[in-house]
Amino acid sequence: MTPVIALVGRPNVGKSTLFNQMTRSRDALVADFAGLTRDRKYGEGNFEGQRFIVIDTGGLSGEEQGIDAEMARQSLMAVEEADIVLFLVDGRAGLTSGDELIANQLRRSGKPAHLVVNKTDGQDPDMAAADFYQLGFESVYLIAASHNRGIRSMLEHLLPAAEEVEEDIAERYPGIRIGIVGRPNVGKSTLVNRMLGEERVVVYDMPGTTRDSIYIPYERLGEQYTLIDTAGVRRRKSVKETVEKFSIIKTLQAIEDAHVVILVIDAREGLVDQDLHLIGFVLDAGRSLVIAVNKWDGMDGEQRGRVKEQLARRLEFIDYADKHFISALHGSGVGVMYDSVKVCYESAMAKWPTNRLTAILEDALTQHQPPLVNGRRIKLRYAHQGGSNPPLIVVHGNQTNALPGAYKRYLENTFRRVLDVHGAPIRFEFRSGE
Ligand code: GDP
Ligand code: GDP
Repeated sequence: MTPVIALVGRPNVGKSTLFNQMTRSRDALVADFAGLTRDRKYGEGNFEGQRFIVIDTGGLSGEEQGIDAEMARQSLMAVEEADIVLFLVDGRAGLTSGDELIANQLRRSGKPAHLVVNKTDGQDPDMAAADFYQLGFESVYLIAASHNRGIRSMLEHLLPAAEEVEEDIAERYPGIRIGIVGRPNVGKSTLVNRMLGEERVVVYDMPGTTRDSIYIPYERLGEQYTLIDTAGVRRRKSVKETVEKFSIIKTLQAIEDAHVVILVIDAREGLVDQDLHLIGFVLDAGRSLVIAVNKWDGMDGEQRGRVKEQLARRLEFIDYADKHFISALHGSGVGVMYDSVKVCYESAMAKWPTNRLTAILEDALTQHQPPLVNGRRIKLRYAHQGGSNPPLIVVHGNQTNALPGAYKRYLENTFRRVLDVHGAPIRFEFRSGE
């Protein structure tokens, strides 16, 4: 599963700085889920192909009261949700009583944490760290977050290899993995029950922690699937649990671990900003997307028209994603979603030979030449596939850095049309030979 890393520590030790370094290429997509995440900030990072989720917590002083106590509670909840806890301390300030209190809290939580001594720049790192060994952590990393020093080697130690994670998931959950995500109350649980209702659930999987989404393998018309249920329908035992049932971590993980994401939105409310944030996560992760517009029952023609018009307008940028108008409650429209899911899966996992991709590139070039830069024409020579889920097309040429966005979009549209890529975003990488 996609690892989750929580950053904890006193204010000013450098948590945000480290967060920004770890999520560097994608900080624009760090969504602010007002009302859902409270004091926690979520980001995604990619270290040599291994993706991970980082949570930056508000900061702990170790002796909080009042409003700070709530913040501390949130930090500790983030610790609960994480696979890897990084406890940051300030190598310049030296050990403080606040650090000791936090260390005790972490110990009580029972989660193994790694000590990270930050701000080791401009001093002997070992000297900077000396103080902190008495906190008794087995694993200690010395970094300088603002200088991007020590972070690589830390991640190398902490993160499993990307291939291992993918193999692990594929082995445990064979077939097409479908993530069901959406805001609270849009009908995810109802949809999961509906989708499973008629099917034979092969194995009923119940992981031990409350943090994880539930992975439910099943078979449908001879095809294997795994539903990744972020709403935790099958585990929910009490009313109390429903309060916290929406978890951004579960959502991000479900997206990462899926081949195809079904984003559920509530037709009665139309598309809201949080839906767009979730779409942003899906695109950023490069997963195929199907939009389920739920609660379509009991809406009159005029209301339906308005919703369709709004979706067409605001989702124009992902017009390659299918929309299904469904009623999870009554079951209408649910079965045909599988057609989209299958097509999306095939697109996400498709393999194209180099000569085919190169032929498409050549045709595209004949139709529209790339522009001149400094009197020289940008040359694109050949294309090959660099990966799947999301499909990655690597285009080789020269001066590719100067290729305008509009031309890249033209290429993307051309490849999408000719290869009939459905629901999946296509990634491009341009490489210059000179
Ligand atoms: P947070 O409150 O824990 O999130 O801390 P910030 O990331 O906001 O950092 C607090 C201050 O420490 C900022 O002024 C940073 O520029 C500075 N800082 C962060 N990392 C380093 C570092 O590695 N070296 C030095 N010298 N300063 C750092
Ligand atoms: P979740 O929080 O996304 O898991 O949402 P739930 O599945 O718990 O559904 C929230 C509420 O919406 C419940 O009262 C459901 O009965 C209702 N609901 C779910 N799907 C539909 C639907 O297709 N039509 C109607 N009318 N109500 C629905």
